[in-house]
Amino acid sequence: MNVLLVFAHPEPRSLNGALRDAAVVELAAQGHEVRVSDLYAMGWKSAADRADFPQLPPDARLNVATASGEAFKAQILTADVRAEQDKLLWADAVILQFPLWWFTMPAILKGWVDRVYSQGFTYGVGEHSDKRWGNRYGEGVFAGKRAMLVVTTGGWEEHYSERGINGPIDDLLFPINHGILFYPGFDVLPAFVAHKVGRLDEAGFSDVVERLRARMRTLFTDQPIPYRRQNHGDYLIPSMQLRPELGEEGTRGFALHVAAAR
Ligand code: FAD
Repeated sequence: MNVLLVFAHPEPRSLNGALRDAAVVELAAQGHEVRVSDLYAMGWKSAADRADFPQLPPDARLNVATASGEAFKAQILTADVRAEQDKLLWADAVILQFPLWWFTMPAILKGWVDRVYSQGFTYGVGEHSDKRWGNRYGEGVFAGKRAMLVVTTGGWEEHYSERGINGPIDDLLFPINHGILFYPGFDVLPAFVAHKVGRLDEAGFSDVVERLRARMRTLFTDQPIPYRRQNHGDYLIPSMQLRPELGEEGTRGFALHVAAAR
């Protein structure tokens, strides 16, 4: 199978660099073909701006969504964006790897999403009617592919637990897992999270590496998070509200969008 690993850490000799290398070696040992987009090494341009759309007349008002949709349709997106879109189409599984920075992904990776996920590619696609609301949340360009996050945190696991002060890690990662990965159709695997990694001794380091290698071995067999699919009856259209009879009593917020079983 083909695996794309999108890597967002500025230092190759970091823990994240070592984890990336371990993941690549393990995936290759499993017979997979791996490509890495090392965003800092590539000098990835993270801001979506006018320079992305040279076709736009200088006096035209920039609407990023519209401009990206038109450029996607005309196949004139910039070469760096097209290359990443091609890698995504090539991949059977996509891994986004990053250190947690201010409770989310580093800006360079967010900028990769902003620019690569053009209109017409990942959003603004499919029929909108009283039966369907576009191809999204379980449908879309990446349907049939898998995705997962590999994340390191400075904070303790307890601090990211249900009652921990940082908020539950699943909640913090929900906008990425559900909004960025599930939205355009990926089956999203539970994230690999290594907590409290700031000062690791050799045993701690080996433990994290081994846990990650184990997850790489089950990349194509692990069960995805059972997010509710949009066009399969769980939601009212067009309000996009979860049907009142669904969701366990007492469940609120993000957890409502995870079904007990698919
Ligand atoms: P490194 O600093 O490279 O390494 C961590 C440890 O692993 C060190 O002890 C190192 O010696 C050891 N190590 C590295 N490589 C090896 C190797 N090859 N062999 C053996 N040992 C090794 N944390 C949060 O929890 N929440 C936040 O919101 C948050 N925001 C942040 C915002 C910013 C801007 C920054 C800079 C940090 C933030 N952090 C936060 C902390 C951050 O998540 C951690 O610093 C990061 O996850 C550590 O990963 P790293 O790859 O940089 O580790």
